[in-house]
Amino acid sequence: MKIAGLHHVTAIASDPQRNLDFYVGLLGLRFVKRTVNFDDPGTYHFYFGDRRGTPGTILTFFPWPGVRRGIRGTGQIEATAFSIAPTSVGYWLERLKQQHVTAERSASRFGEDVIRFVDPDGLLLELIASNSLATIAQWPDSPVPPGHALRGFHSVSAALEGYEKTARLLTDAFGYRLIEESGNRFRFASSEKAAPGRIVDLLCLPDSSVGSVAAGSVHHIAFRARDEKEQLQWREKLVDLGHNVTPVIDRIYFRSIYFREPGGVLFEIATEPPGFTFDETIEELGTGLRLPPWLESARSQIEKVLPPIRVPNKQ
Ligand code: ZN
Repeated sequence: MKIAGLHHVTAIASDPQRNLDFYVGLLGLRFVKRTVNFDDPGTYHFYFGDRRGTPGTILTFFPWPGVRRGIRGTGQIEATAFSIAPTSVGYWLERLKQQHVTAERSASRFGEDVIRFVDPDGLLLELIASNSLATIAQWPDSPVPPGHALRGFHSVSAALEGYEKTARLLTDAFGYRLIEESGNRFRFASSEKAAPGRIVDLLCLPDSSVGSVAAGSVHHIAFRARDEKEQLQWREKLVDLGHNVTPVIDRIYFRSIYFREPGGVLFEIATEPPGFTFDETIEELGTGLRLPPWLESARSQIEKVLPPIRVPNKQ
């Protein structure tokens, strides 16, 4: 049993409309699900991804209007990176500049070009020019031309005070391998070469202080399990290794278990099925507010408290 890669990354935003405008209007991701935070149904939960919300392409947000900003530090994901084609670097530098997003082209990392910028809440994002692009379902109505579209997650970078225990979890339990290292950056990858989101970088930052998760921070990262049976086996394995794992929780589009890895980052293992077409056709994804069955009876109250939003058009 091995982990193939990331399922999704969940971060915290403040203003929902500004969040939608940035990820759909500027970055060209598809709004694949408009729902509420099942644990706090008066607030949204947005899912962005490729055309069908393929695991490994999904970035999700809890937009909490007025929430304070997080503080970057250890025990959290420092940066979330998407892959782009090497021929798209110029396009993205120009597009970000035109939209008044300050981006820096940083020194190449393990031979790949990196563009770094932050979203309107301060979340650190990277676009990494990759020669081995994963196969994803491209969204034809994206404002970004298909050749330049984001191609799913490249990697996440976790900032840790010490990286050894987290490294051991990735290698001994998840089946990842250390494939590169440079300075304080250690790169681990799954054996699933064609899959998006197969890389996790661990940054060893013993002199940094512990971060605080709020707006502009990643709340948790989810790895994928093939099905519910495999997820239960993961749960058993992690409990045997001494981790404190939640019971299986129904998230409608997947089932989830959560635990805190030794470096302090909240990890989830989410099932690939049933996926986002569970309650909408692929064409309809993101068009209407979807609620889990147990919240349907409260729909009118929920719709009254959620701020109105408008999905940006192709521009
Ligand atoms: Zn999650």
